[in-house]
Amino acid sequence: MSEITGMLAIGNGEKCPYCDTVMTKDIDTLNHMTENHEDKLVEALFGATDKKDIEHIKTLKQKGE
Ligand SMILES: [Zn+2]
Repeated sequence: MSEITGMLAIGNGEKCPYCDTVMTKDIDTLNHMTENHEDKLVEALFGATDKKDIEHIKTLKQKGE
């Protein structure tokens, strides 16, 4: 069964597009993204490029909405 990581599908052995971390089966791609590249993730998923939009989406996410 393949893992679904939204629009950011990075396979095992592939490099993260935002840093040099190579994804392995021990690394949760989505987790890595949220912890290290949250702004980039929000941008990729929601098309938000404005800092204010990104902060807004983060706030919504934290509320679980
Ligand atoms: Zn990374």
